[in-house]
Amino acid sequence: MASESDLHDHHTGVRSAYKHVVRRNPYEPEFQQAVLEVLDNLSPALTRHPEYDDQRILQRLCEPERQVMFRVPWRDDNGNVHVNRGFRVQFNSALGPYKGGLRFHPSVNLGVIKFLGFEQIFKNALTGMSIGGAKGGSDFDPKGRSDNEIERFCQSFMTELHQHLGEHTDVPAGDIGVGAREIGYMFGQYRRLANRWEAGVMTGKGLDWGGSRVRTEATGYGTVLFTQRMLERNGKDLDGRRVVVSGAGNVALYSIERAQQLGANVVACSDSNGYVVDDKGLDLDLLKQVKEVERAGIDVYAERRGQSAHYVRGAGVWEVPCDVALPSATQNELDAKAARTLIDNGVIAVAEGANMPTTPEATSLLRRAGVLFGPGKAANAGGVATSVLEMRQNARRTSWSFDHAEQELAETMAGIHDRCEEAAERYGCPGDYVLGANVAGFERVGNAMLAQGLV
Ligand code: NDP
Repeated sequence: MASESDLHDHHTGVRSAYKHVVRRNPYEPEFQQAVLEVLDNLSPALTRHPEYDDQRILQRLCEPERQVMFRVPWRDDNGNVHVNRGFRVQFNSALGPYKGGLRFHPSVNLGVIKFLGFEQIFKNALTGMSIGGAKGGSDFDPKGRSDNEIERFCQSFMTELHQHLGEHTDVPAGDIGVGAREIGYMFGQYRRLANRWEAGVMTGKGLDWGGSRVRTEATGYGTVLFTQRMLERNGKDLDGRRVVVSGAGNVALYSIERAQQLGANVVACSDSNGYVVDDKGLDLDLLKQVKEVERAGIDVYAERRGQSAHYVRGAGVWEVPCDVALPSATQNELDAKAARTLIDNGVIAVAEGANMPTTPEATSLLRRAGVLFGPGKAANAGGVATSVLEMRQNARRTSWSFDHAEQELAETMAGIHDRCEEAAERYGCPGDYVLGANVAGFERVGNAMLAQGLV
């Protein structure tokens, strides 16, 4: 992991903000990493705009406005009682109501939710829309749980969380372990407790009851649209490229779908137990059947697909040679060793479908090697942007066609890409999407905080 010493050349405001974060949040390495990654790029903006430092914008940004932690008791199918921990970190509302997903995974703790909430502030700012940043979840493990157990857990979780939500206050969505089924159970419990049909209080809803077309596909599609635009700026495109995707969840599946539609040959993907290589190109219908419908492992995909596919247990999907890599599973899944392998194999672009999947060392290796690098807060912002489109449809009591929603997503991703590009150029680093995303997101939220006074 990068450390404080990496900041020695930086603006004093950046150094003191980071020291403050490390001192105040000592057992939260993911949160410290996410903060360092943003602050590392902000010295030029602070030098150009001393008012940010005068008003301690960095320190204020790094302290969540509100953090909620709560007990989630629930009963399994055998009558045993379990107690999990629930979280909602409402990080920043300068630009709009808090917005960000809920993650159910045993690795969840306060530091993980804070890293995700912090990233979400800048991602949401980059969309150009009116949304603040938040994240939540639980250390509950949905794997192997029955539908009834999932329903009881979601109801218990929402029984506490509902009092902190509202369409103008805080609007959650899905993330790892939270898909349409979980959103349904949580929305139902919210509706019962609040006695309100408040469609805009959650996004990722079913299409028959307030959901938006393209929300399911949006993060994956958006990541690929962002990648395609980065490539086009360099006279290239996805057509005929070998692509490797990690994960086989929501983001991964729809990245594969869009990449295939653009003519790419997607040859590998993974899940938490291993990866599959399929030289003919992945059969997406079979993959969806195994992962979305049957909720089985990708080893089952390899078994059914026959000779062209083989399954490898354990991590290592980045060993598969490719032109374009789309890490779409979880944080810190692409380390320095993997980055070196990708570079040796001639990768030309990496775009983060997941949040912070690339370690700081790996990111800097890829950037130094001249690989086009799309950071998650820009590349995967299509999901949250389409959530805002869902809120818009809810507010107008209307429902758009697939084509219309997809067109809106495409325009939003182009806007995000161009905001990063423009900021990188303005600060003298053309083509540096990491710097561009951090600076453009920061300027928008920082200016809103300056205008709104000391809140
Ligand atoms: P899903 O739960 O749908 O899928 C996650 C996938 O990653 C699964 O295939 C899972 O394996 C795998 N995975 C999860 N944890 C690990 C781990 N520790 N090691 C290896 N593999 C793992 O989640 P999403 O697709 O929604 O989210 C994936 C990433 O994208 C996350 O970083 C999330 O924060 C980010 N993201 C999601 C958005 C969304 O709209 N859903 C929006 C923006 C970012 P298995 O199948 O075995 O469980």
